[in-house]
Amino acid sequence: MSWGEAIERARLAIVPRTYQILSRFSYLADLAREVRRAREEVVKNLDFYLGQVERAVGDLGGRFYLAQDGEEAAEVVAKVVGSGRLVVLSKNNVAVETGLRRRLAEWGNEVWETDLGEFLIQLSGEEPSHLLAPAVHMTRERAAEVVREKLNIAVEPDAAYIARRVGEFLRGKIIKADVGITGANAIAADTGAVVLVENEGNIRLVSSLPRVHIVYDGVEKLMPNLTYAFTAAVVQSAYAGLYPPTYINLSAGPSSTADVEMVRVTPAQGPREFHMVLVDNGRRAAARDPELWEALLCVRCGRCHMHCPIYLTAGPKFGVPPYTGPMGVMWTAITRGVEAAGPHAMSCTHAGNCRLVCPMSIDIPKVIRAVKRRYITEPK
Ligand code: SF4
Repeated sequence: MSWGEAIERARLAIVPRTYQILSRFSYLADLAREVRRAREEVVKNLDFYLGQVERAVGDLGGRFYLAQDGEEAAEVVAKVVGSGRLVVLSKNNVAVETGLRRRLAEWGNEVWETDLGEFLIQLSGEEPSHLLAPAVHMTRERAAEVVREKLNIAVEPDAAYIARRVGEFLRGKIIKADVGITGANAIAADTGAVVLVENEGNIRLVSSLPRVHIVYDGVEKLMPNLTYAFTAAVVQSAYAGLYPPTYINLSAGPSSTADVEMVRVTPAQGPREFHMVLVDNGRRAAARDPELWEALLCVRCGRCHMHCPIYLTAGPKFGVPPYTGPMGVMWTAITRGVEAAGPHAMSCTHAGNCRLVCPMSIDIPKVIRAVKRRYITEPK
């Protein structure tokens, strides 16, 4: 079966469901506006909030690192993880952006993606095609074939069956893992608390069972405080068509207890180490850019993809994985530069659906137009 058939099944499932959610829970639009205001505040004062979160993570008993690019981020993670370890990851677009899984494996670690879609991508060796559902280009028949061939596990071409069998395999890995690496939907700058939204249940296992928890994400995930961070996670899940989400997780430092004399000590039963690695990789320059800055408001809901005629036709070829679709063209420009994003921007027909459905009201066509203009006019 083709990309077109797989994406059409996904579109028919998610688009009507998202509209139903937004009409039934009308307060979500107000929450989205609040999140936009808070994100604008952070983007305009990014260095201030970075300083604040660094202090907050230290107060929690964690370690904070600001990495300029993927190389620097990898060096930090290499020092924390070492080699010969079993490492489990939850879905993480910045890890894909910076090639973290490959690097971890090159240092002699056993590495497993624990999100079902990302796990299918890891097994197949293909590129992710959507920031929320990286294997959206695979039909259930293809997903079953990949699991059968690569893991020698008999599975039926049925989504629930595939999820159950893969879940059994991955649970065995997570239980034994030395290090768990997650991303973040939002990070509260005032407290250093990390909010993660999910449905599979893998993130709460990855962030609590291994002895070391590393949070690895981009600097733009900062929010002014925990209330806004939580609201951002709610908005992300709603506009992704998965509301209410099955789980919202909060991690704030290594595990702790105050059960003896009310004195809070670490560690307790969860991770004994908590590390936060925030990656710049073009984001701080974009925050200062009069045209690209708006892309940093994206909450990664993936809604613009499913309303974009070019993405629905070209699929993951529109943008550079993991940043595909309308948001992906903007984010390819931020993380890889205009030269890499330009050819993709040139495919945009400016239908404008993306701007209409974006919860952050990002003027995506305007940003893409700016990428086009720079690509055509800037000296090579
Ligand atoms: S650009 Fe808007 S619609 Fe697209 S993924 Fe980001 S927040 Fe969602």
